Amino acid sequence: MNLVLMGLPGAGKGTQAERIVEDYGIPHISTGDMFRAAMKEETALGLKAKSFIDKGELVPDEVTIGIVEERLGKNDCSNGFLLDGFPRTVAQAGALEDILAKQDKSIDYVININVDKDILMERLTGRRICKNCGATYHLVFNPPSKEGVCDKCGGELYQREDDNEKTVSNRLEVNVKQTKPLLEFYSDKGYLVDIDGQKNINEVYGDIKDLLGSLNK
Ligand code: AMP
Repeated sequence: MNLVLMGLPGAGKGTQAERIVEDYGIPHISTGDMFRAAMKEETALGLKAKSFIDKGELVPDEVTIGIVEERLGKNDCSNGFLLDGFPRTVAQAGALEDILAKQDKSIDYVININVDKDILMERLTGRRICKNCGATYHLVFNPPSKEGVCDKCGGELYQREDDNEKTVSNRLEVNVKQTKPLLEFYSDKGYLVDIDGQKNINEVYGDIKDLLGSLNK
């Protein structure tokens, strides 16, 4: 099964990705993870990617498309793959069509995990972190027993600079703008399936499994 997973920050993409790849035995291909690994190893690719990632920019299409093409050519992708974080532009989506056509493959589904912006704001701005031990909490979904105090070590909880409302709202807006043309591209092709990401984690995964069950691959 050849899948692309999409969803805004906070939609629960990472959690669902983990479950899909484990259950279906397909590789999880995350361009963000690939770039981070390359940066850690300080390879030529890593150094190139770093100059863009550090500025908060997208890595140029030719670089990104090249690494994805190479990755999709590996043996472990013969039964399928889950792409995460790629494509991010319509040019990348077009290139992906070409890469797959060369390998006699095509996308089965583009799974878009849908969550309202207000709920994403609540999920993303509610995070609190312990200054002392780094444990994470959420004001609504996983609150500490005593407000502002870490359950594990008694340390003081704080909100990360980039979790504040203005920054999160900007981040979401940029993402919505970026993904809109992609969603249209895939909707026109008939690959796009919206999954309601506002249900609980197990229910969301249940809906994804129902969808994938119909593939029988
Ligand atoms: P992510 O973990 O998916 O948020 O990716 C981290 C960073 O890697 C992004 O902010 C981009 O700079 C870069 N990146 C990841 N995937 C892509 C992509 N498909 N195209 C361009 N840049 C990407």
